[in-house]
Amino acid sequence: MKNSEIIEKDLKYNWHPCTQMKDHEFLPMIPIKKGEGVYLYDFEGNKYIDAISSWWVNIFGHKNPYINEKIKEQLETLEHVIFAGFTHEGAVKLGERICKLTNFDKVFYADNGSSAVEVAIKMSFHYWKNSGKIKPLFFSLENSYHGETIGALSVGDVGLYKDTYREILIKNITIPIPKDQTLQEAKSALKLAEKFFEKYHKEVSALIIEPLVQCAGYMKMHHPFFVKGLKELCDKYQIHMIADEIAVGFGRTGTMFACEQAGIKPDFMTLSKGLTGGYLPLSLVLTTNKIYSAFYCDYEEMKAFLHSHSYTANPLAIAAANATLDIFENKPILEENKKKSKYIWENIQKFKELPNVKEIRQTGMITAIEMIDYPWQERRGLKVYEYGLKNGVLLRPLGNVIYFMPPYIINYEEMDKMINTAYEGIKKAGNL
Ligand SMILES: *Cc1c(COP(=O)(O)O)cnc(C)c1O
Repeated sequence: MKNSEIIEKDLKYNWHPCTQMKDHEFLPMIPIKKGEGVYLYDFEGNKYIDAISSWWVNIFGHKNPYINEKIKEQLETLEHVIFAGFTHEGAVKLGERICKLTNFDKVFYADNGSSAVEVAIKMSFHYWKNSGKIKPLFFSLENSYHGETIGALSVGDVGLYKDTYREILIKNITIPIPKDQTLQEAKSALKLAEKFFEKYHKEVSALIIEPLVQCAGYMKMHHPFFVKGLKELCDKYQIHMIADEIAVGFGRTGTMFACEQAGIKPDFMTLSKGLTGGYLPLSLVLTTNKIYSAFYCDYEEMKAFLHSHSYTANPLAIAAANATLDIFENKPILEENKKKSKYIWENIQKFKELPNVKEIRQTGMITAIEMIDYPWQERRGLKVYEYGLKNGVLLRPLGNVIYFMPPYIINYEEMDKMINTAYEGIKKAGNL
């Protein structure tokens, strides 16, 4: 098969996510035949460095031999089983491992990030209801992103995805964020946040945040002190904290989980994306015995959490998650990442000399280069995307922000190629 034949058939039947399909009248669809390591290969032998980990999910490379083996093993014994009234070995293993790793007590399973956010929101509201309080509001942060289903979209704040649906969303109050990563900004944002807590706390079930990096929100970053301060406000005003670590969990920010850097333990934590190494859809909501016990009673009291998904705790996805945790246990991943992120940081200093670059920033294995405020209609980021594809690197900018979020197995030569291609692409996008 040739690229062109696949593209033609694809555009005839498939409707792709987060895409104005008409763009494909000028923007070529890339049909991928196979993946290996950091590379994606099309049907004509072109290869692309997956510098965005296929939407932030892949951490140990495509076609990872170890994860492949573990999924195959699972496939030979059990592909799926209902998770109500039944359990299986993988889930027992993953439940114990993830609780020990995060210091939580209980795991609830879902099959994608947005669903995990829905679960956390419902659980928090339901906890208060079971405790005799009705708290119908949620706090979330300016510029936040928590997914695309109605509840998750409601607590997000990226207008591009949200504005169209305003009339059908649940009630949410948005708290301003620090302007940058400095401690000073964190402190003044906390002062402002407290005003919201004072005013609304009686009606608010939970605050949901993306600790350290708002990924879909143009890779905006804040100081860990902001997260710590928000947790203190939550405790003071009796509001749950939901830490959405769907994108930042599993080593992305330099520590296994971003909350570690703030030294806090939230009431709920949502995980997905890197959880299965980028193989299969799975998500987790972690919580405490305190929350769990508010639902635990005789059936007739009607306090159970009756949420479910058909593919809850799918054994194949869980096998991938257990394999991913094995790799973290057996290899010095976080130490290696420290060296790699330092290397990336050193090598992007030259971007500051480009007249169309406004700021560079980094947290662990997330590095962002923000171009100047070009009007969005100019779609300069798209120019960088196109340049990247022509030159063998998949960069998928968010507006005027170009970022690197590669699989952790990327080597130094591949990092050079990724960085230099972005540099040339940004330079070119400035000279239109
Ligand atoms: C991607 C993402 C989600 C949504 O996960 P999906 O699996 O895409 O539904 C939620 N929260 C954050 C922080 C994310 O980055």
